[in-house]
Amino acid sequence: MLERNRTPKKSFWVYCVIAVVVVMLLNSLFFPNLMQPQESSYTQFVRSVEAGDVVMVELQDQEIGYAVRDGERVRVYVTGNPNDPNLVQRLLDAEVEFGQVVPKEMSPLLSFLLTWALPFAMFAGVWYLFSRMMQKKMGGGNAMQFGKSNAKVYVAAQTGKTFADVAGEDEAKEALKEIVDFLHDPKKYERIGATMPKGALLVGPPGTGKTLLAKAVAGEAKVPFFSISGSEFVEMFVGMGAAKVRDLFKQAEEKAPCIVFIDEIDTIGKKRDGAAGFGGNDEREQTLNQLLTEMDGFDGRKGVVILAATNRPETLDKALLRPGRFDRRIPVELPDLAGREAILRVHAKDVRMEPGADFNAIARATAGASGAELANIINEAALRAVRLGRDAVTQEDLEESVEVILAGYQRKNAVIAPDEKKRIAYHEIGHALVAAMQSHSAPVAKITIVPRTSGALGYTMQVEEGERVLLTQEELFQKIATLTGGRAAEELVFHSASSGASNDIEQATKLSRAMVTRYGMSGTFDMTALETVSNQYLGGDASLACSPETAAQVDREVVETIKEAHATARRILEGQREALDRLAAYLLEKETITGAEFMEILGKKQA
Ligand code: ADP
Ligand code: MG
Ligand code: ZN
Repeated sequence: MLERNRTPKKSFWVYCVIAVVVVMLLNSLFFPNLMQPQESSYTQFVRSVEAGDVVMVELQDQEIGYAVRDGERVRVYVTGNPNDPNLVQRLLDAEVEFGQVVPKEMSPLLSFLLTWALPFAMFAGVWYLFSRMMQKKMGGGNAMQFGKSNAKVYVAAQTGKTFADVAGEDEAKEALKEIVDFLHDPKKYERIGATMPKGALLVGPPGTGKTLLAKAVAGEAKVPFFSISGSEFVEMFVGMGAAKVRDLFKQAEEKAPCIVFIDEIDTIGKKRDGAAGFGGNDEREQTLNQLLTEMDGFDGRKGVVILAATNRPETLDKALLRPGRFDRRIPVELPDLAGREAILRVHAKDVRMEPGADFNAIARATAGASGAELANIINEAALRAVRLGRDAVTQEDLEESVEVILAGYQRKNAVIAPDEKKRIAYHEIGHALVAAMQSHSAPVAKITIVPRTSGALGYTMQVEEGERVLLTQEELFQKIATLTGGRAAEELVFHSASSGASNDIEQATKLSRAMVTRYGMSGTFDMTALETVSNQYLGGDASLACSPETAAQVDREVVETIKEAHATARRILEGQREALDRLAAYLLEKETITGAEFMEILGKKQA
């Protein structure tokens, strides 16, 4: 992991000293001098003098104080002064020292200070600290110890990441390389009068390597790297956010050239709605305002580059995105086929692989997976290899690991009744057959009826041969037909439906709706956008943007398409009834079959 140097906290020592002083004062108030003299008789005093135990004596008008050595310690006694005229001579003979023995009465000034002034001062101190905190809550005052940002300073060499650690994402790397170059040689840009954009915003779905890229920039540029997460600004005490921002930028300015990285900036950078009024929103706005102010106050030529990352760019306040702030936007998208393969290779470098692993096959089977998921696949495969007592990762480990990530672990001991198992087998073969019988479907790669921890009772895996970026209307329709194939097979064989198709139904509906509302593939609405997607990188929640009448019409169209696809699937399966039975029986026996086996059995029948 990363080593980090936390900025030293001066305040810590100040608090230590204050604590020690307070404890000492309390001590002296509540446990006054432990050398408090004890009463003794005059006879005892004389005896001690004669025994030579008395080391010091103090003669007062009414009292005699004396100190007696008692082994290691010295005890102090007082006794009455009988005004014995020979006493002084006797003491001199015994070679007793004269000096102060009994503690003096506290001076009136000191006693006043301790009993009145000190408590008052302590009270005033506490009050002062509180008022300080309140002041910050209001966004004013200047940052003392309380507002110190806990941005971590990552020293250059210690982020340990370089662009070589980031696979794919070539466009993002290209854009960031310019920033690295600027940090290396700001003069080159200064000479010509060019200013670097102050901020760059990395946007993209979770797990695509945004944080990794920012670290790589620091690693490449070999400059200090201040990293703070948006949520850290709002944590701890309310009212600290603005102070933290101020402090962070102060530190950065001292360390320039350097990089300030604000991860998950959407937590503070959300649109200000003005209607905040009470509570937490106000706090966030304070922090955001402070951030905007600091960014404006910055001289771009100083060599401080501000990077930020988010997966919800649409929620960001417009003010953050205007020129002079985060005006450069760097998309970090989900990796394509080549990117996925490259990411797998980067992470496979860290594990021992059996030679000849086919990363391309794994990459093709993982369309839509993020870099983080791919890294996870490699790790799961390595764990599986260890579990099975192997000393290198095999292709089989990788394939199983893909399924674990997609569908969860196998539930080996799940008990499923035989007639249910049969239904599941027909259902899956139904999907596979409909896919195989259509010209535009992705080939079937694997069919299994081993239940998974995700709740899937079985599934049919289809893998595209290459990278797909577009889907035609025909392909979309065939996808929907394939999704309805499972239910269609159940109806055909068992003359009834089951609850097992809920996921198919959900996906089919989504696709069908998107065709009408977003892809402009309906006869009625032509190319009208009827839905807006609110967060494109996080599942893409769509909301209808049309009149209720239109919405009802949309629903009708969606249902129409699905009905049509369902009917198509049934027609296909009716024509393939014999193959359906044969394949289902085979699957029931084997539990998992490959795409090749599937095609072979299907082919035999056709021949
Ligand atoms: P984000 O910040 O975009 O959510 P991270 O940067 O935290 O994603 O990525 C999480 C992990 O996923 C990284 O630590 C890395 O192991 C892996 N990863 C993601 N994208 C890539 C990539 N392009 N190349 C190599 N590894 C990646
Ligand atoms: Mg991140
Ligand atoms: Zn299904």
